[in-house]
Amino acid sequence: MQPKHPTSPPPSRLTSTLIHERERLSKATMRSASTYDRMRTRVPGGVSSDFQWRAPHPIYLKRGNGARVVDVDGNEYVDFHMGAGSATTGHAHPVVAEAVRRATSVAMCMAAPSTDCFAVAEALGNRFELPLWRFMNSGTEATMTAIRIARALTDRPLVVRLQDAYHGHHDAALAKFGRNDRSSDIEAWERGVPKDVIELTRLVQCNDTEGLRQAFSTEGERIACVLVELPLLSPTFTMPTPEFLTVLRSICSEYGALLVVDEVKTGVTVAYGGGSRWLSVSADLVATGKSIAGGVACGAVGGTLEAMGGVGSSGARVVGTFNGNPLGMAAAHAALTEVLVPEAYEDFGRLGRALTDALERYQSHSRVSFSAQIWGSKGSISFTAGAIRFSPDLVSELVWTALMNRGIYLAPAPDLRFSLSVAHSVADVERLAAAIAEAAQMLIEEEILT
Ligand code: PMP
Repeated sequence: MQPKHPTSPPPSRLTSTLIHERERLSKATMRSASTYDRMRTRVPGGVSSDFQWRAPHPIYLKRGNGARVVDVDGNEYVDFHMGAGSATTGHAHPVVAEAVRRATSVAMCMAAPSTDCFAVAEALGNRFELPLWRFMNSGTEATMTAIRIARALTDRPLVVRLQDAYHGHHDAALAKFGRNDRSSDIEAWERGVPKDVIELTRLVQCNDTEGLRQAFSTEGERIACVLVELPLLSPTFTMPTPEFLTVLRSICSEYGALLVVDEVKTGVTVAYGGGSRWLSVSADLVATGKSIAGGVACGAVGGTLEAMGGVGSSGARVVGTFNGNPLGMAAAHAALTEVLVPEAYEDFGRLGRALTDALERYQSHSRVSFSAQIWGSKGSISFTAGAIRFSPDLVSELVWTALMNRGIYLAPAPDLRFSLSVAHSVADVERLAAAIAEAAQMLIEEEILT
């Protein structure tokens, strides 16, 4: 990869630092490399989700406990990926694990009516202030189901989403998904998505109130729903403006479209009642998943009486063998009522403040300026010291590699987005700050940031 900026310093500076960090990580993860060779003979790419892949080989984990993960080479990391945000309880929280153990001794999956889901529906209903819930097993299923419900209720085909935002792996979520500045990225994500589905998708930019109005004024009678993550956590942390939120709610009501809030990631993480309660947005439907069950597969769709009341009768069919299964329900009940209690969110606030304080201390001693956005257990950090003079992709690879080499586990991604859990301590976030400061310093010394 070549640096793009015409005034870039010689590529060898960045390249040699990157090569050094890459070699250090490769040496420490040799068993992951050989594991990859074996894995990919049976599993395409050696991983079950493409998000887990990285070059030259994925780093395979063998254990996760609390805020720590250990890879197959025995390296221990402080985890800030936290199961892609599915383990806000910390890995294998004893209360959740015990609830699952108890559930396994009663039944695994009977795919038959049971009352297990009632208490979970009640717990989620209290948080999101929505009365009716159905359960499934992933965030993908949750957003897919919410769209289906909206289309069935309105008898309309179009789905409006925010540009670049990820909502799962089904057709309606991947249509037009991808980095908008790279058409090849969109093409890659759309492979296998029927053209008809792509044609039923409309995109608007977050906070582009005019664009939203325009979408409705041209096709409002055909729009089934607007699907949004609030606040937006991907691809970058973006806080919706009050004006955008007001127009979003009112325009959906005006045209009879459903406002579907994707709380798969934000759900029980940015605040006790998710992004929608935090920002006082009244959703018609909420799709959630990830952390609601403390690391066990679970998804859920909740909604108003009007939006959900027809499910199973006059509205959309929502079915699934493992829907509301005893293990997911036991885990969700324990996570929601015993671990992710209101005090947990106060603790996230304390951890966030400790992290920003630590970054400020480093900032006062160097030329780097850090900017952190921390909402509940979710955070994003960026730093500058003037213009980045190398390809941002190379810089982010270098920072990620440097953090891994310093015992900080994050998913390979272009930015520094992280998840906290109830298992993290002030010392853990201070270690994260120290590693980021060290990586930033390295970039300055190598004249990569100027
Ligand atoms: N919606 C959002 C906002 C997400 O971040 C994700 C996963 N990253 C999903 C939906 C899909 O969830 P899952 O991976 O559990 O299918």
